[in-house]
Amino acid sequence: MAAEAAQPSADYDEAQCIAALAQLERLQNQLDDLRLTLPRIVEPFHMPSKPPMFHAFKDNVIKAQRDMKTFKSQWQSQETQDIFEHTRKSAAANPDLSAGAQVRQYGWIEKEEREKEMVKKNGEDEVRMEDVRVHITKEEREKILSDWKEANPSIKVEEKDECKELLIPFVADSTKYRFRIKISDDANATQAIKAECEGTSEPFTAVTRCLASRPNANDLRYLLDMIAAYKMVKGLRCAKCECMLDDDTTKPIARRSRQIAGANETSETVWEPFHEGCLDRNDHLPQVLK
Ligand SMILES: [Zn+2]
Repeated sequence: MAAEAAQPSADYDEAQCIAALAQLERLQNQLDDLRLTLPRIVEPFHMPSKPPMFHAFKDNVIKAQRDMKTFKSQWQSQETQDIFEHTRKSAAANPDLSAGAQVRQYGWIEKEEREKEMVKKNGEDEVRMEDVRVHITKEEREKILSDWKEANPSIKVEEKDECKELLIPFVADSTKYRFRIKISDDANATQAIKAECEGTSEPFTAVTRCLASRPNANDLRYLLDMIAAYKMVKGLRCAKCECMLDDDTTKPIARRSRQIAGANETSETVWEPFHEGCLDRNDHLPQVLK
């Protein structure tokens, strides 16, 4: 059983790949730091007086031993060995490693932390959604959809199962998106509106995360408007940091709305692009709680 548990899975999912790359980056950082071991140990010899020199020398030797021990134990850990085993199997199955040249060497530790944060946040959202009891009927769904289609005549929608499933495909920013909305409709349970952007790679997985962390999670019209914003609002500059690319060199992949004062004291909704990392952490909370 123990040997079985140590087996790496045949296919890593995205989260496992990020975690593995983050682990290798941590090891690389430790190795880079260990390169400075000898200069650190001999550095105190420049000191003029003997006792402080000896203390500094001793401290540096102890630190070096500790760092070596930490590196060795992490290198030999099951987690790291599983990663090596996975790469061996993967390379044996497909020896063409040219795609690896596209993979960045650094930034995985931060990415892993951000993903964990997102998963945690989405988990909190699910608890919150269960607290909100809303239910929209078939007629309401159809009304919301026909109003939205009227406002967005250039976007095609495929409806299935009495508007409980909607598929919205379009091309925007030279990217082919396929959004899928599913509305659970069990009269006895809480209704939930789930949305995803189909695809297992970036930017699609990031879009799905940004949809999942949307405010007003049970508002179908709001979700439809958010999806339309991917077509109508070019993701050029992030509304928060005002940059085109974030630290991961990704484009602003989220869309969020803002109320602005319009003519005749009315307010108007505008949709703006954001980087995933630039989203307000309390985005999903109702305005009054912020
Ligand atoms: Zn930004």
